Amino acid sequence: MVEATLVLTPKDFKSEVKPTWCPGCGDFGVLSATYQSLASLKVPPDQTVIVSGIGCSSRFPHFMKTFGFHTVHGRALPLAQGLKMARPDLNVVAIGGDGDFFSIGVGHLIHAALRNIDITAIVMDNETYGLTKGQTSPTSPHGHVTKSTPYGLMASQFNPIATALSLNVGFVARGFSSKPKEMAALIQQGVNHRGFAFIHVLSPCPTFYNTFDAWKATVTPVPADHDPTNRFKAMELAMETEHPYMGLFYKEERPTMDQAAQELAKKAKEFDIDRYMERYV
Ligand code: SF4
Ligand code: MG
Repeated sequence: MVEATLVLTPKDFKSEVKPTWCPGCGDFGVLSATYQSLASLKVPPDQTVIVSGIGCSSRFPHFMKTFGFHTVHGRALPLAQGLKMARPDLNVVAIGGDGDFFSIGVGHLIHAALRNIDITAIVMDNETYGLTKGQTSPTSPHGHVTKSTPYGLMASQFNPIATALSLNVGFVARGFSSKPKEMAALIQQGVNHRGFAFIHVLSPCPTFYNTFDAWKATVTPVPADHDPTNRFKAMELAMETEHPYMGLFYKEERPTMDQAAQELAKKAKEFDIDRYMERYV
């Protein structure tokens, strides 16, 4: 949740560093949606911090004219949560890919959900490890053949939306990189949500595993009559993997850990230690 103060344009969030992604990479669409959504939110760039892990998509902070932190593999979430606890006035966004968030960093997703600290996570999922040249990731489909899985992937495919819903994350949505306008609206809602917001983005890697045509043909908007307060219905939509749904699956606001810590700190400041000590003298 952030307070709007200024009139800003997407250009105000664009750094001088030219994105180094391959031509056609889905991450370009996510970047432009992020510029757009932050400008619409009217939060000055110096009040936003983009925290990333390691991977192609984790180069993101370099392309933003906000504060940023390109951390270590899988650790965007713990760093973003610590930052928000220390600086609740800032708009904190954790960014990364499927390898980063759902492989080495997946344990952090559970604790971010339980703590419900007011940050936004945007996960660019291309179902592959793009940076290291196309090995399988947790979201690669069962049977996927790569140089490192010549007989086909033997593991099952991870379902990010169903996992977030099962962890009772209070804001769960999915975007598609070739629909930046719709995605910008979801990012805006996610940042405005008070609590942990999880946005899964289908963002193809045309260089090592091109899912663009398949997703373009199958991605379906969440039905207009979907009630985003109905977690069971949201779970039903999440289980549809042949035609992945795009949009807001679930939203519920509840107490956040950063808010609770601020209230506790306020009480501690008001605490009269002399009166308390009188009991013992
Ligand atoms: Fe994007 Fe794939 Fe190129 Fe990485 S390797 S920049 S994910 S297209
Ligand atoms: Mg990936």
